[in-house]
Amino acid sequence: MPPSVRTSLQALEEGRHDLLVIGGGITGAGIARDAALRGMAVALVEAGDFGSGTSSRSSRLIHGGLRYLEQRRFHLVSESLRERNVLLRLAPHLVRPIEILLPFYRGDRVPGWKVRLGLTLYDMLAGTGNVRRHQNLGKRALKEVEPLIRERGLTGGARYFDAQCDDARLTVGVIRAAAYVGAKVANYIRVTDLIRDGSRIIGARVRDELTGQDGEIGSRLIVNATGPWTDTIRRMEDPHAQPMLHLTKGSHVQIPQSRIGNKNAILFNSPIDRRPMFIIPWGGGDWTYIGTTEIPWTGAPEKPEISEGEKVYLLRSANSLFPDARLGVEDITAHWSALRPLIAAPGSVPPGRLSREHRIQKGPRGMLTIAGGKLTTFRRMAEAVVDQVSKDLGMKFAKLVGESRAELLPGTEGGIGLALRAPGAKLGLSGYIVDYLIRHYGAETPALYELCRERPELMEKIHPSHPAIGAQVIFALERELACTTADILERRIRLNTETADQGAAARGKVDEMVSSYFSANEVPR
Ligand code: FAD
Repeated sequence: MPPSVRTSLQALEEGRHDLLVIGGGITGAGIARDAALRGMAVALVEAGDFGSGTSSRSSRLIHGGLRYLEQRRFHLVSESLRERNVLLRLAPHLVRPIEILLPFYRGDRVPGWKVRLGLTLYDMLAGTGNVRRHQNLGKRALKEVEPLIRERGLTGGARYFDAQCDDARLTVGVIRAAAYVGAKVANYIRVTDLIRDGSRIIGARVRDELTGQDGEIGSRLIVNATGPWTDTIRRMEDPHAQPMLHLTKGSHVQIPQSRIGNKNAILFNSPIDRRPMFIIPWGGGDWTYIGTTEIPWTGAPEKPEISEGEKVYLLRSANSLFPDARLGVEDITAHWSALRPLIAAPGSVPPGRLSREHRIQKGPRGMLTIAGGKLTTFRRMAEAVVDQVSKDLGMKFAKLVGESRAELLPGTEGGIGLALRAPGAKLGLSGYIVDYLIRHYGAETPALYELCRERPELMEKIHPSHPAIGAQVIFALERELACTTADILERRIRLNTETADQGAAARGKVDEMVSSYFSANEVPR
C-alpha cells in the first residue's frame, strides 16, 4: 500500500466533491472508504486526529454483544457477529479472536442454564464463519484455567469466542484504505460552519487546526459522522434541531496483569450493581483493562475524564472476582473514558438499555446524519449511508455495492505468516520485537525492516520497557498520517497506555523525530 498523506487545505478546496464526510472516527472512516470504493469523489475532514474521539477509547471488542441477547436485540447481535467474521478476514492483524470466560455463581442475576442457552444461540447467529463454538466448563475446569478466581459460590462456567482489536489502529487502517482508493482525507481540519445555497447545503467552512488557515470545501452532499458531536453539527444546519443523541460516559482502568493474576478475558456481573463487565488482557500478557461504566453525560463532548468514583467502582468489581488481588487506585497505570453516541429514546430508558443500533437522518437542507452504532458494525453502517447517498445524488456508480466486504485493509495483502520473521532476525532485531511488529503491522512489516536497513539507528527502542522501535515513528509519519507526537504516542504506537509512565520516557525522542521529519521533508502538515 503506497504512502497516504494528509490532504492539504488547498487540495480540499479544489474541485467539487460528490461527498464530504465530517468526522474521522470509525464511522466516518468506513463511509469514506465505501464511497471511494464505489467511485465517488469523496473528502473526509477530522477536527483532531483520526480516532481521537470515541474510536480510540472503546472496550476494543469486535463482538456480537452477548448481553444484547438478553435485551432480545437479535438483529443487532446477528449483524454484529457477521461483521466480526468479515473483519477477522479483512484485517487479521488488527482484529483477532479472543477467548472469554464466563464464570457462574450461586445467586447470579441470569442463571447458568440460561446463559448456556444464550451461548448456543450466539453460536447459531454467527453462522458458518463462527470463530469457535462455546464450551461448557465445570467448576474444576474453570478453576484450572483461571486459578485465582473467587471460589466461594462458584458453580461452573463457560468459554466462548469473540474478537479483540486495536480500535485506534483499525480506524487509521480504514482511513488509509479510503485514501488508497482515492478519498481525500485530512486530520486537523475542523468544520466551523456549513455553506448554504438557498435551501441546500453545498459545502462547509473549515479551519486548519495546524496552520490556523480558513477555507471552504464544496460538496454535493454532506454526511455528518461526528459521534458525540452529532447534534452540534446538526445545529449548524438547523439551529432548532432537537437532540438526536443521549450521551453516556464509559471508562476503563488498566493495571499490570500480574497484579490481578487473570489468565483470560472474563465477562462477569459487577456485584455492586449487577451490570455486565469485562476484565481483558492486553499487550501479550503485560496488562489487563477493566471496564466499563455507563453514566449519563450532559456536558460538552470534549474529553470526558474518569472520576474517582468510577475508579473505585471498577476496582471493587474486579476485587470481588479476584479477592487476593486487593487492587487499589495506586495500581492503575492508565485509564481512558469516552462517550457513547447513543440514539435518544422517548421516556426514561436506563442507559444500559438504550439501543446500540444506528440511525440515518436527513436534515431539512439535505445533510445526512448517521448516529449510534458500534465499532463492530462500522462497515455495515457505511454501506447503508452510502446507499442513501447514491439515492440522494441520483447516481449510479460503476462499482458494485459490497466491495467493502472484499477489499482487504492495509497490512493484510500478501499474507501474514512466518516468512515475515526471518528478514527481521537477519537485521538483528530480537524475536520479541519482530513478533510485536508482525502483530501490529502484519504484511506491512517489511516496510519497517526497510526503514531499519536504510537507517540502522531506527532499530533502537524508543522506550526502555516497551518493544516499540524508532522505525515505527517514521512509519507513522510517512504512512499513517500522524501529525503530532500525541498522535504517535496515543494512537499509532499506544505507549500512553502500554507503559507505566504513559510513554513519558519516549516523549523527548519522539518529539525530536517528529520535528526533524517535518523540517527535513518540508512536508505540509
Ligand atoms: P467518534 O470516534 O467519536 O468520531 C467522531 C469524530 O468527529 C471525532 O474524532 C471528532 O473529533 C470529529 N469531529 C467532531 N466535530 C467535528 C468538526 N466540527 N469537524 C470535523 N470533525 C469533527 N463498540 C464496539 O463495537 N465494541 C466495543 O468494545 C465498544 N466499546 C465501547 C466502550 C465505550 C466506553 C464506548 C464509549 C463505546 C464503545 N463502543 C464499542 C462503541 C464505539 O466505540 C462507538 O460506537 C464508535 O467508536 C463511534 O465512532 P464514531 O466515528 O461515530 O465517533
